[in-house]
Amino acid sequence: MVEKKLPARKTAKAVNVVAAPTPTVIKAAMQRFTKLSKSMPTKRGASSRGQDFNEIYGEFNPAEAQAQAARCAQCGVPFCQVHCPLHNNIPDWLMLAASGRLEEAYQVSQATNSFPEICGRICPQDRLCEGNCVIETGFESVSIGAIEKYITDMAFEQGWVTSPEPRQRRDSRVAIVGSGPAGLAAAESLCSLGHQVTVFERADRVGGLLIYGIPNFKLDKSLVTRRTELLAAGGVEFKTNMAVGKEISLAELRSDYDAVLLATGVYRARTVELVGRSLEGIVPALDYLIANNRAGLGDRLEKSLDAKGKRVIVIGGGDTAMDCVRTAVRQEAKEVTCLYRRDRENMPGSQREVQNAEEEGVHFEWLSAPEGFMAVGSGSRVGAVAAHRIHLGVVDGSGRQVPTPIADSRFIQEADLVIEALGFDAEDFATEFGTRDLAVTRSGTIQTREGKATSLPGVFAAGDNVRGASLVVWAIRDGRDAATEIHSYLQSHSRSLAAE
Ligand SMILES: Cc1cc2nc3c(=O)[nH]c(=O)nc-3n(C[C@H](O)[C@H](O)[C@H](O)COP(=O)(O)OP(=O)(O)OC[C@H]3O[C@@H](n4cnc5c(N)ncnc54)[C@H](O)[C@@H]3O)c2cc1C
Repeated sequence: MVEKKLPARKTAKAVNVVAAPTPTVIKAAMQRFTKLSKSMPTKRGASSRGQDFNEIYGEFNPAEAQAQAARCAQCGVPFCQVHCPLHNNIPDWLMLAASGRLEEAYQVSQATNSFPEICGRICPQDRLCEGNCVIETGFESVSIGAIEKYITDMAFEQGWVTSPEPRQRRDSRVAIVGSGPAGLAAAESLCSLGHQVTVFERADRVGGLLIYGIPNFKLDKSLVTRRTELLAAGGVEFKTNMAVGKEISLAELRSDYDAVLLATGVYRARTVELVGRSLEGIVPALDYLIANNRAGLGDRLEKSLDAKGKRVIVIGGGDTAMDCVRTAVRQEAKEVTCLYRRDRENMPGSQREVQNAEEEGVHFEWLSAPEGFMAVGSGSRVGAVAAHRIHLGVVDGSGRQVPTPIADSRFIQEADLVIEALGFDAEDFATEFGTRDLAVTRSGTIQTREGKATSLPGVFAAGDNVRGASLVVWAIRDGRDAATEIHSYLQSHSRSLAAE
């Protein structure tokens, strides 16, 4: 095969690619899983990565990426694609990557995914695409996430990623409330369709949980900022420190804009109402993570939220809990324990993240639930968590085994900082947005009908505020779908106005 060099661009790193082969050559070149084992980019050693907040995974080199992509079986029914919320055309971009056709691979990948560099890093692939890869049993799946990351990082380096470029500019104005992945994906799609988009964000930075929730060691903040800057260059206007419902009302947005998208996430932290919960040193997970992410972005870290030298207990077993324990390790906590009422197999978080946490020295107390918090002496600061052991009983209506306390199994775990990571519920959206006409579900999330439309005409909703606490990939999917619906709504709306 003939090797050729891509033309060098100003900021581009030269990359070796292989000239486009014929379909027969491609087919013969794929299905390498029987000969080549799965490999992943190098992961930094636990002791080194525990000392900073930098990402922990390296990058494939071109030859490795090409070879790993060629492990794909190109099966008739691609379950990886079926089980991806975005239905990413994974077999096709793997085939293109295996052929060294990286720019085309990127084009196919970004056709269904607004932010593949983000999904490549933080999607729980073990539960989605890779977990459903048909070669998984016996041979281990294709390293889909790492290859997606490689293709997109290369696309940025080579200058193939551009800001949204609409074919025609339209007069229609859309307000998006919230700048998390749902809001940003919708902004990207709507801007590409030519609409004038303004994003209202209550925080001082754009990005939602991508910037303030998920730690830097999983997703470098510069990647989020780079996307935001591309959107701004494409014409998306960002208004930060603008809480809708406070600084500006939803009613004002509805009268000033042709359509409104609510993409506000869910932020009401669940708690355990146990004895001693009001003691100092017991903090909600998101307060802790936001403070740490802010410090990483150059803001001042509140001392009470610094784990340095402390014995830390994190209660919970999801992605948020894993982010907290691993953050505490990096803040040089004295010891870090995760208290979770189910076992490892029944953790809601990604198994990959549990393994990373274990490697970094986190101690897990499986099948354990807190029953109260104890103060240091007669003071007001937390000094320990009283907990008991759990037996997983019969399966309930939700399909999960019910955790049942084991009699006389009480134990005490000392702690100077306790972090509650028990999940999130929806806020009272009707109050927040000042209207009882906004229909909500029994769990408080925004009710949508006919796709993403809410009960308020011209108002749509997408992401966690509809779905409940979920995943970035679902938020992107919802944002893209909402944009398609808003586009149709605006088109039919302008037609009916013209007909009047
Ligand atoms: C700690 C943590 C770690 C996670 N890790 C992962 C992971 O590894 N992989 C994964 O796939 N998912 C992960 N998730 C879940 C994922 O982050 C969310 O599902 C996703 O961000 C939801 O996107 P969204 O756009 O709906 O909401 P958000 O990202 O929450 O964004 C909503 C935005 O709306 C803004 N807003 C809210 N109300 C208003 C208002 N009234 N006016 C103006 N702005 C407002 C908020 O400030 C925020 O910026 C994690 C979540 C947490 C909390």
